[in-house]
Amino acid sequence: MINKYLGFAGEILKGRITSKRIPVLVVLCVTNRCNLRCQYCYEECYDRRGCLEFTTGQIFSLIDQAAGMGTKLISINGGEALLRDDIGVILDKIKEKNMLCQLTSNGLLIKKKTDVLKKVDSLCLSLDGIGQANDLNRGQGTYEKIIEAIEHMRANGIKFHTNTVFTKNNKNAVDEIMGLADKYKFKAQFSILRREDSPNKDICLSDDEVKKVISKLVDYKKNGLPAFYSSRSFKNALDWPFSFDRQIITGALPAGYKTSPCYIKQFLCHIEANGLVYPCIVLVNKFKAMNFLEVGFKKAWDNLAVNNCSACYNICCNDLNMIFGLRPESVCNAFRIVADRICHNAKNKIFRKPTKGALDAKN
Ligand code: SF4
Ligand code: SF4
Repeated sequence: MINKYLGFAGEILKGRITSKRIPVLVVLCVTNRCNLRCQYCYEECYDRRGCLEFTTGQIFSLIDQAAGMGTKLISINGGEALLRDDIGVILDKIKEKNMLCQLTSNGLLIKKKTDVLKKVDSLCLSLDGIGQANDLNRGQGTYEKIIEAIEHMRANGIKFHTNTVFTKNNKNAVDEIMGLADKYKFKAQFSILRREDSPNKDICLSDDEVKKVISKLVDYKKNGLPAFYSSRSFKNALDWPFSFDRQIITGALPAGYKTSPCYIKQFLCHIEANGLVYPCIVLVNKFKAMNFLEVGFKKAWDNLAVNNCSACYNICCNDLNMIFGLRPESVCNAFRIVADRICHNAKNKIFRKPTKGALDAKN
């Protein structure tokens, strides 16, 4: 595992030294199917439901092409990725190529797919608050299910972190999520529902509400509590010079506004479940993307070079951007998270008794 993280860091260093564009991190939506109907799901807005799904062979081919171009981490998204029957072999293929693998899940199938989840290097679960704060966003009864999933993962020694999307339904949920993070020993990452892309504008936060939530997160981070992203990424969002209704700055930055250059364009791409390759999640449906199923991954990736946006307030993109930009605060924050994962896995290997299934498989 350490070698894989070193490979990831090495590829970024190589890109920074040579200024070469390398798709080090590929976000891949493997399906649009989902067993939930969250109020804010972008799938409704992008009209992604019902599109054809990749075959296993198409995903394998993409992984082979990406590996040849320097990809070191594939982040599996959906829809709900665990709905795919072949998710286990997809993860095996990623591992066979010596890449890191992250997977995001809504948590409903965790118990059924425990063996699959043991294969991932990093797992992200959706959690929007306690009780109604969560259920108003994600559907009645989902809070109870996610807590069951969290307890199941802890019992099985699977490390995870959570993601919360803030809306009007859960704008006061920062404290309770931090309480859960402390209780269940996970790190919590946060995003703001993007008004422009949301199918449900009524639940989007006002600018003042966004600032209040983010300021609270900055305070938590300052006090060493388990917020996933670096403080700088939260502060960057607070410094955004426009209303949060506007997500992107294209071309020159406005006078007096300083931010890091966007390295996402150099190191990351986001692939929708229909094969379209975008520079990042924020630009889905806003950029003239090519389909890797038609032109191959290399050409679809090269097509992203014309993207000329220069900044956005997306907290996740900002954090990754500063890691790619080798900003010390974000790099140290990421290093602590990775070190924690590596120690957790090592401890598990040494102290956890193998399950009966694992023993049977060995014999
Ligand atoms: S779990 Fe994700 S993909 Fe499924 S409905 Fe909710 S937001 Fe959409
Ligand atoms: S500036 Fe933001 S929206 Fe534009 S490519 Fe970079 S991360 Fe994506």
